[in-house]
Amino acid sequence: MIVWQGPSRIDPEQEVVCIVTGFTGTSNPKTGQMLQSWILHAHHHPAAALKSGHDYAICGRCPHRPDPITGKRSCYVNIMGPSQVWNKYKRGGYEKVWLPEDGHPKFRGRSIRIGSYGDPAAVPLWVWESICYNTHMHTGYTHQWRDCNPAYAAFCMASCESEAEVAEAEALGYRCFHVTPENLDIQNHVLCPASDEAGKKTTCDSCGLCAGNYSDRSARIPHVRITVHGRGARLYKENHHHDLRYSSSASHGQSTGGLVDSRES
Ligand code: SF4
Repeated sequence: MIVWQGPSRIDPEQEVVCIVTGFTGTSNPKTGQMLQSWILHAHHHPAAALKSGHDYAICGRCPHRPDPITGKRSCYVNIMGPSQVWNKYKRGGYEKVWLPEDGHPKFRGRSIRIGSYGDPAAVPLWVWESICYNTHMHTGYTHQWRDCNPAYAAFCMASCESEAEVAEAEALGYRCFHVTPENLDIQNHVLCPASDEAGKKTTCDSCGLCAGNYSDRSARIPHVRITVHGRGARLYKENHHHDLRYSSSASHGQSTGGLVDSRES
């Protein structure tokens, strides 16, 4: 279903659309049975937008966008998924719904990934407020934490790639999802229990830690870390090879495995 369409909150000259899918079930091994939300440019196919730079309207300053010289991207999202949604959208395959302030019945009791593709900060905050009003849980991540309204911290983790970024985002009120180039123990971080390095103990819809400051439970855990993974991992490591020295020396050697275990039990 189309939950909102309008000017991007990142680049208001561009029109974007937010589409939620998965009401009849999804099969993502990491997120589990979560609804997925796709933030797409309304007038450019996702693959074309990556080439033309129109993806700025939905991804803003995300460092995983295509390199302007090489065209290579380190984003973990396979563009096939957003492309399928965009094609169906262009065929008129999604109904448009109006989101009331006190929640739409289709979201009641469900879990949702805010921004399965695209950044939640491209969409007005009231859309997420309405959706999360009666969902059971959500996860969300933004790379726009330096620029967007800090109120997004209520719904989203700040996506960070270094401890310096974590400190900066924390000062703005965010909890952080910290992607590291290798498996590191870092103070005030817990390891994502769905990660390879944690043994894939659970899925996001059972865990729910990445809900920004939305719930008391998640807010008790300062930050979440994970080692870079997925399609763009090799390129990410190439781009961050200089960070390896920094991150290793900044590691505090404090085990967080116990925290993960006790949270999951
Ligand atoms: S910490 Fe939990 S919610 Fe966050 S990515 Fe890992 S499994 Fe998903």
